[in-house]
Amino acid sequence: PARTSPTSAPALPPSPPTSSRPPPRRCSTTRAPAWVSPSTLIAPSLRPRIINEAKADLATYLDFSPEQYEVLFMQGGGTGEFAASMYNLVGAWVSRQHAAVQKELGEGAADEAAVLAALRQRIESGLKVDYIVTGSWSLKAYQEAQRLLGPEYVNLVCDARTLSDDGKKFGKIPDESTWKLSKDAAYVYFCDNETVDGVEFPSFPKILEPKEDGTGGPIVVADMSSNILSRRIPVSNYSLLFFGAQKNLGSTGIAVAILKKTFLPPTLSQPSPALLRKLALPIPPIVLQYEIIAKNNSLYNTLSIFDVYIAGQVLKKLLATYPNGVDGQQAVAEKKAELIYAALEAHPEAYKIVPDKSARSKMNICFRVIKGGNVDEAEKAFLKESTALNLTGLKGHRSVGGIRASNYNSIPLEGAEKLAKFIDEFARA
Ligand code: PMP
Repeated sequence: PARTSPTSAPALPPSPPTSSRPPPRRCSTTRAPAWVSPSTLIAPSLRPRIINEAKADLATYLDFSPEQYEVLFMQGGGTGEFAASMYNLVGAWVSRQHAAVQKELGEGAADEAAVLAALRQRIESGLKVDYIVTGSWSLKAYQEAQRLLGPEYVNLVCDARTLSDDGKKFGKIPDESTWKLSKDAAYVYFCDNETVDGVEFPSFPKILEPKEDGTGGPIVVADMSSNILSRRIPVSNYSLLFFGAQKNLGSTGIAVAILKKTFLPPTLSQPSPALLRKLALPIPPIVLQYEIIAKNNSLYNTLSIFDVYIAGQVLKKLLATYPNGVDGQQAVAEKKAELIYAALEAHPEAYKIVPDKSARSKMNICFRVIKGGNVDEAEKAFLKESTALNLTGLKGHRSVGGIRASNYNSIPLEGAEKLAKFIDEFARA
């Protein structure tokens, strides 16, 4: 309030008679602080329980074994995981090469210089990380790997933009027969659902499946930030999955990494900073090192525990709604997407769906409004009328424009029905 001099202060209302006054509130002598963060209100002793329950519920819901996979609550969002995935899996590759070199040269016998020389040679001739670029987010992850590791080690498996008319737009997944995979890459990376471009892998890429004879297969990493918990995934095909919580799991503030335990001690330890320095490879910040986060059950540094609590509540609700796991939610997600795409397809004169039919996302439905020929005007009108009906958040990402219906799990079937009806009515009007 504006400061007022004592003379200009308004008179206080008269006090009510004593008999009608409410009884004095009993409260502690400590005054409540003006603002307490929700995370602070969760007692430290409760934090492990919140974490462990969320981990167990995630494993039940996605149907993977907690014996084989570790769940890590990370900070730095999906973008932080672009870096974390690279650091940790390159570290794992170096550790494996280190062990192989020591074995080759005879453990203990070889001097350090010989080991380093052999390792440098292996890095020069064999270190590769593979990126499948199908949209804006996998492009960002690819660029981050180039920035941190050095472009000479980063292999572009395919760039989906080359399939568009002008070579600039995403919208298709290149045929696997055209992918240029490295031999024995430290990992192969892809983004399962491209949030900005509306491109989703219809299923796990055949070419990346583990070999049938059980002799392994590529080390696969996937960003599932915008479609996790919406469909069944073959978790055992991945070495690492990660996702920001803010789409289908909970609130902003945490990201989750599901990591195969064979990348952690006692099977494998990350190389020491001293060794990485000698090899001129990047040293990960400690908060991005999975081994450290796993050892501390995600409590190495101050975790945004309230966000984990929310994620845990979402998982409990999902498990109560779909006791058989993610298949129930998948059926709803498919139905919702079907309704919206069908409404768009019914009016080719009014709408143009952005991605190719073979790669359409069920979570982010991207389209242009072409009704009347002036796309700008038509989209403005579409957004204005939809907002008036409380159909909000439909504007496409600023980098690509157009319309994007984000069809996350929190959107009920009735929401998708309402949007489909509006799409139809707008086209007819
Ligand atoms: N990957 C995908 C698929 C995303 O949709 C996003 C964000 N929308 C990110 C990564 C980056 O996540 P963050 O903003 O949490 O860094």
